[in-house]
Amino acid sequence: MENDAGFQSALEEARKGAAEGGVPIGACLVSADGKILGSGHNMRIQNGSATIHAEISALENAGRLPASAYKGATMYTTLSPCDMCTGACILYKVKRVVLGENNTFVGGEAYLKQRGIEVVIVKSAECEALMKKFIKDHPEDW
Ligand SMILES: [Zn+2]
Repeated sequence: MENDAGFQSALEEARKGAAEGGVPIGACLVSADGKILGSGHNMRIQNGSATIHAEISALENAGRLPASAYKGATMYTTLSPCDMCTGACILYKVKRVVLGENNTFVGGEAYLKQRGIEVVIVKSAECEALMKKFIKDHPEDW
């Protein structure tokens, strides 16, 4: 899973977010046939946004798609998804959520599973290191 193009894209987005001084979380939506539909990173600080989390950013960058496009799709994200992003994954009926780590934050994983969505935890050391550095450097923003 860690070598999947979708995960690598999500990680690249998280690095971009870190380089911009933002919350270093990235996400990537991949279709059932393995095509990257959209990637993005958290823009909360960059845009002064209350809602542009990484998963929402990936969904936004994928654009408006027919419901069939999400069927069998995987949402890759570098961090356990919050309640809002968990809701978005459920709303668009993705099949699977692959997350980088859940040591710095645990989101709606139990709810995803309860709604029949497969949850895979990569346990990525880099994802965790990015978050730990951000939390240490910007405790007021986390
Ligand atoms: Zn979120």
